[in-house]
Amino acid sequence: MSSDIVIQLGHSQLQLLKGDITTVAVDAIVNAANSQLAGGGGVDGAIHRAGGPELMAELDVIRSQIGRCDTGKAVVTGAGKLPAKYVFHAVGPVYRDGKHREPELLASCYRTCLDLAAERDLKSISFPSISTGVYAYPLDDAAEIAVKTVAAWLVDHRGSLRTVKLVQFSDFDHEVYRKHASALRGHMAGGSSA
Ligand code: ADP
Repeated sequence: MSSDIVIQLGHSQLQLLKGDITTVAVDAIVNAANSQLAGGGGVDGAIHRAGGPELMAELDVIRSQIGRCDTGKAVVTGAGKLPAKYVFHAVGPVYRDGKHREPELLASCYRTCLDLAAERDLKSISFPSISTGVYAYPLDDAAEIAVKTVAAWLVDHRGSLRTVKLVQFSDFDHEVYRKHASALRGHMAGGSSA
């Protein structure tokens, strides 16, 4: 899967891709999980299907230890058969009206996972479009938060992480993300299109 938009931020790249996140090789794949860590449809179902039963077995242990995962946070498992070392199961906000800390909680998902990657000295991470499926976050707002939060984090952190891939599943979602990435690139020095 080729990346048709790349933003260079210091020594790191923010890339947009269209396709199936379970096929993209990275150190950590982010899952859009639910707070029960119970598995579900959408990208969560795809990640569990591709990763195999060991992901849910690890989540069962985590659930028995912590009960549930708070919104805006994430838990870590291995990646089973996925082309990755880890899966970060992030819990995005269910969108109500935008007045229940949804923007802050969505941004927290991205920052939490980037912090988890940095703690593990990982070089690459991929994100799906968290909360914009069943959780009904308006896509335009969620895409802007995703692009801006990741870019700001990369500017602030000069660690191991070299590549952050934002993966959209549909052409429509990809176009919306492209719009926000292009706007961001217009404001960043040293940006380039590949
Ligand atoms: P949420 O419950 O956080 O809204 P969903 O899984 O319902 O999560 O949707 C999040 C996004 O993931 C949606 O844009 C959906 O189209 C997308 N998605 C579903 N399957 C995949 C996949 N295999 N790869 C990448 N993105 C996917």
